[in-house]
Amino acid sequence: MDFKDTDLFKQKRENLIEILRNEGIRFPDVLNAISKVPRHLFVPQEYIDLAYANEALPIGFGQTISQPYVVAIMTEALELTRKEKVLEIGTGSGYQTAILAELSREVYTIERIRELSERAQKILKFLGYTNIYFKVGDGTLGWEEKAPFDRIIVTAASYDVPLPLWEQLEEGGIMVIPIGGRDFQNLYKIIKKNGKMLKENLGGVRFVQLKGEFGWKD
Ligand code: SAM
Repeated sequence: MDFKDTDLFKQKRENLIEILRNEGIRFPDVLNAISKVPRHLFVPQEYIDLAYANEALPIGFGQTISQPYVVAIMTEALELTRKEKVLEIGTGSGYQTAILAELSREVYTIERIRELSERAQKILKFLGYTNIYFKVGDGTLGWEEKAPFDRIIVTAASYDVPLPLWEQLEEGGIMVIPIGGRDFQNLYKIIKKNGKMLKENLGGVRFVQLKGEFGWKD
């Protein structure tokens, strides 16, 4: 892999941090992780000039790498302290996975498109992460053998909380998930308290669909 983290990329990452700060992202660990992870490795070559723009970008197969601001608010909402076991649904490019791996004990990540998972695995291994476990399959079913999880992050749009994911969330744990229709959703932070959902709406977002047994069917 040809990996050059040039001064220009570093400068662009610092500019992105300034933009995120101005947008209200405050948690220093999240900003540090974003300033460390080379997002330009996770975007297709033709979009490399836009790698540090605050934009979602196509990654092939009709999927996208999430907008940095959305990665930042989702990660902030997870309240990570490097001790957590995290389940991520929708590996995609692997960029969000890297941010999670910086801030948690271990990350279990599921992607339904094999080619995307394999590409992400290659980049994340190249970057030296040893606390990420990959699976190709239907993430709406969760990862039962590895449950329970302290945190669950769903990076595709669902019409409801998939039941297996709710069951695999530890008591006191946090799930961050976009819920709504196919074209527009609200991002929710959900805390499992005494087995009940404490829901906070973090605002409107647009994600690609979560497809699978407990997701959209087509
Ligand atoms: N977080 C990713 C990143 O930083 O690149 C972006 C993820 S992209 C917006 C959503 C991903 O969810 C897509 O790669 C899509 O294939 C995947 N996906 C959709 N339904 C899924 C399912 N049931 N299980 C696993 N992955 C799924």
